[in-house]
Amino acid sequence: MSFVTKQIGSHEDVQSFLARKHGHFINGAWQSGGDLKPIAIKCPATGLQISTIESGGEIEIDAAVKAARQAFESGVWAKMVPVERARILFALADLVEANAEQISYLEALDIGVSRGLMRDIGVKLAADQIRYYAGWVTKINGETITNSRAAAPGREFLTYTVKEPIGVVGQIIPWNFPFGMALQKLAPALAAGCSVILKPAEEAPLTSAYLADLIAQTDMPSGVFNLVNGVGRKAGAALSRHPDVDKISFTGSTSVGKEILHAVTGNLKKTALELGGKSPVVILKDANLSEAIPAAARAIFFLSGQNCMAGSRLLVHADIHDQVVEGLVEIAKSMRIGADLENSYDIGPLISERQMTRVLAYIDTGLGEGAKLVTGGKRVKSMAGYFVEPTIFTNCSSSMRIVKEEIFGPVLTIQKFETEDLEDIAAMANDTIFGLSASVWTGDVSIGHKLAGKIKAGQVGINVHAAIDPATPFGGYKQSGWGREFGQDGLEAYLETKAITAYL
Ligand code: NAP
Ligand code: MG
Repeated sequence: MSFVTKQIGSHEDVQSFLARKHGHFINGAWQSGGDLKPIAIKCPATGLQISTIESGGEIEIDAAVKAARQAFESGVWAKMVPVERARILFALADLVEANAEQISYLEALDIGVSRGLMRDIGVKLAADQIRYYAGWVTKINGETITNSRAAAPGREFLTYTVKEPIGVVGQIIPWNFPFGMALQKLAPALAAGCSVILKPAEEAPLTSAYLADLIAQTDMPSGVFNLVNGVGRKAGAALSRHPDVDKISFTGSTSVGKEILHAVTGNLKKTALELGGKSPVVILKDANLSEAIPAAARAIFFLSGQNCMAGSRLLVHADIHDQVVEGLVEIAKSMRIGADLENSYDIGPLISERQMTRVLAYIDTGLGEGAKLVTGGKRVKSMAGYFVEPTIFTNCSSSMRIVKEEIFGPVLTIQKFETEDLEDIAAMANDTIFGLSASVWTGDVSIGHKLAGKIKAGQVGINVHAAIDPATPFGGYKQSGWGREFGQDGLEAYLETKAITAYL
């Protein structure tokens, strides 16, 4: 713990938080238990242990589901006066913001993200997310329906719909930006009136545990929010197959998403999946390159590429290809690599040794497939943590594994095209099993709209990549997922619609 003690300095509350062995937050209280041995939480920048969690399984999941069910059926949350439920969520948003220092310390230690970025952008976005959905609580309305099926002459039907919370929801999240990820799932579910069991990733559980402590400080009734720590194949699997869970919302890899689909069949849970991506950044020859080049670098290297929206496939017109490659290589070479609690860096560590090994293996694959490595490609050996250089391959083609598969690391593949036919360009962009994000860079915004219309992805930016906002729906086409988060779509995902008809 010496690294932590030295760097956290005056943040004694964070230090004592890290010293805890984090169990499970069930029915408003921390409980211990688990059928595997406790998990050491490591800082990816140093490889050193910073904290410990217990590894829950079937028993803890079952206790959490019971608490959530009891809270749901009692109506303490689902039937609470809407303005009151909104007030509690607004209060949670204020608490999140007031603890931005602590949250950003923990997230920086847990995943290696820059602390300043987390405090000023990550925590702010998470608080905005809660406020956005808190605003919806008082606006969850059904409709009156014009019904043409008059049952008998002279008789009329009145039909109206009401929106009801789906019930008990299991939420499973990955390790990249876990605090934002937790709130992006929790805020709409809680706003809708659902009760929740959250299962954070074993590699990045700390800010979810901190969030549980913050929720305990609000007036949210016990059992509405529950958290079970543990590994996917135990806690995650037990949650996905639990017969008393009404919905699973999962964010993670496409392969685990498919496993979850098998697990939910028992009681046919509603299922939302936010999965992987291989998002194209398309630069047309009339693009403003002074904007497009740095944006393309950010699109892939943000969070060292551990970002589902990462612009990992660059498609660029032949006329400007060399200039774009040159600009990107220059940026990649000048990036500051590192992570500590004081400074900002452009490239942080990958989450784990396993992930680093996976990314380096993909780089070897790319070399073997005949792609040309123009910068990076190696582990940063001078650093103890799991750092990989920003890496760029040119001469790529869509049949290569490095172009087809999600690497989830700082690796960009570049493909060149000669055509100006938008159908052909869109076909290249769409030549993937994924469909999460995309961006199009052009000086002609009308061409931008036309191309955006042809790209099969849940979000398309025109001269911007991955513009995230709580009000803007987010999710995937094709194997990038089922359903949408954020915005009104994100709220609807936690609501059932009931149609009621009566004779007038
Ligand atoms: P992952 O391995 O799929 O894990 C995600 C979560 O699922 C973790 O909490 C994991 O538990 C749990 N899990 C693993 N196996 C499970 C099972 N059999 N049943 C139930 N839960 C299980 O993903 P990751 O490697 O952590 O995260 C990276 C992936 O997430 C990438 O593919 C990325 O594209 C995707 N992602 C998508 C979005 C989006 O919004 N579309 C956003 C961010 C990330 P443990 O890891 O704790 O064992
Ligand atoms: Mg994992």
